[in-house]
Amino acid sequence: MKFLAMHYAARLVSVLAILCVSCCAVDREAFTITNYDLNVRIEPEQHRLGARGKITLRNDSTVPQKIAVLQISSSLDWRSITVGGKSVQFVTQPYTSDIDHTGGLSEAIVTLPQAIAPKGTVDLEIAYEGVILPDATRLTRIGAPDEAARSSDWDRIDTDFTAVRGVGYVAWYPITTEVANLSEGDSLFEVLGRWKAREYASIMHVHIAVSRDDGELQELVVNEASCKLMFEREGRASQYSADCTYQPLGSAAPAFVTGNYQDLERPTLLVHYLHSHDTAAASFADAAEKVVPLVTEWFGALHEKARTVDLPDPQAAPYESGSLLFTPLANNDAKLAGLSAAHQLTHAAFYSPRPWINEGLAHFAQALYLEREKNRQSAIDYMGLHSSAFVRAEKPAAAEADVKNSLVNAANDELYRSKAMCVWWMLRDMVGDAALKKAIAAYRPEQDKEPSYMARLIAAQTQRDLEWFFDDWVYRDRGLPDFKVESAFPRKTATNTFIVAVTVENLGTAGAEVPVMVRFSSGEVVKRLEVRAKEKATIRVETPTAPTEVVVNDGSVPESDMRNNVLKIVPPVEP
Ligand SMILES: [Zn+2]
Repeated sequence: MKFLAMHYAARLVSVLAILCVSCCAVDREAFTITNYDLNVRIEPEQHRLGARGKITLRNDSTVPQKIAVLQISSSLDWRSITVGGKSVQFVTQPYTSDIDHTGGLSEAIVTLPQAIAPKGTVDLEIAYEGVILPDATRLTRIGAPDEAARSSDWDRIDTDFTAVRGVGYVAWYPITTEVANLSEGDSLFEVLGRWKAREYASIMHVHIAVSRDDGELQELVVNEASCKLMFEREGRASQYSADCTYQPLGSAAPAFVTGNYQDLERPTLLVHYLHSHDTAAASFADAAEKVVPLVTEWFGALHEKARTVDLPDPQAAPYESGSLLFTPLANNDAKLAGLSAAHQLTHAAFYSPRPWINEGLAHFAQALYLEREKNRQSAIDYMGLHSSAFVRAEKPAAAEADVKNSLVNAANDELYRSKAMCVWWMLRDMVGDAALKKAIAAYRPEQDKEPSYMARLIAAQTQRDLEWFFDDWVYRDRGLPDFKVESAFPRKTATNTFIVAVTVENLGTAGAEVPVMVRFSSGEVVKRLEVRAKEKATIRVETPTAPTEVVVNDGSVPESDMRNNVLKIVPPVEP
């Protein structure tokens, strides 16, 4: 009887423990992994990844934590978790989340030997293993066509080609995240953004060894430039490895690729290309080298070679990690190569920990490239193509002066890429090339401690007050301008030219300086006019013959409604 009661009590306790884990109080983002020291073994013939090593967890929450949740891809399994060499109690469970290509994670819910106080740390020894096969479940289950899904999620371990990208694609090293859901707006962006911010200063040392029974030696490329590479043969078998330290991780998601690559090296770049792609690799390198002068003129000397890794699937979506670009080289045309090189080389020359500066400038460089190759209109068309998505998304938030979606805080890449590109272009139109280049040259990432740092560097190069612009476009999300030509009154001068007084109203919620084009039979005069949100501004423009129409905005300023931007001019009444 007593035995039965004890047995019952024990069961009740374990039921309570499970209930507690599943329903309440598990803060999945309480711990940050501040240090990784991992030994990873890849066996391409078995599609297998096995890892063991040590991680350090730091409690970044405000309350003591006794439970830690560690997550790896759902195709991997936890083998052991110990603290100080002693096993700890842990249960594993699947956790649905779109942060991994499989659409799920394997969670280990670890009961720590004692609660960890806020800011306290604990070291765990861990081991896990499994397979990494092509898997696009997270995309196909929300309705993406198979082919499109596969060309986006191209990670796998296989004999001819292995590619494993980190957080956001394959959780091949432990992470600690809340659920990310691709069918819920920005959910994945936000979870990834928080993760990267928390792990920004973390350090990862990883030894990646590829073992093959068939003795083949392939090239191993890792997205960390300082890796030490080694090759060994043991009888028929071979092993090649990379020893890498991300110090710190920054915004990188550790990734590696192995395949039958050959190298093409130039003074500013290195291309790892696949068998039979040598012509494509050479033309890619030629196109990229032509862009180097433009990039160094704007962003300074390259501090590393821009590296490119070829992908076997010609449809594969390119992926970038700093100045390392994964892209299919087959069918790559020279124009596209130049465009992507402008972006990649900018990363090799310039770095900022802030996405709107880091990515925004790299996209801005692409617009500069198109302007130089063709003309201003091609650059504007390119920005227009990219801004349509965020322009659509901006409308509902317009009135809220949202801080969360401001460029300085944006986790959504439509914002820190496309919108940021437009913001850089507008800044350049306002302050001029020389001033903006000097501000960029003065930028030091280690001194960028406040959101206003970049604005101060630009302010130092110009007489203009730009505080309002940064407030409307960068520090807050005030939505977009909506310009309307309210009136245009021409009058003939004594010298038979015309002066037209143009009044532009900004019905929108963000101010901007916008081009105003006054057209006449044989041409147009372009002036620039600053129109703050919900305000009007007037400018006088002289034309040689009678003006026929006024157009506000050449497309260089993102705007919510372009339908009210033209006003036909009624010919002035002759006295
Ligand atoms: Zn980039």
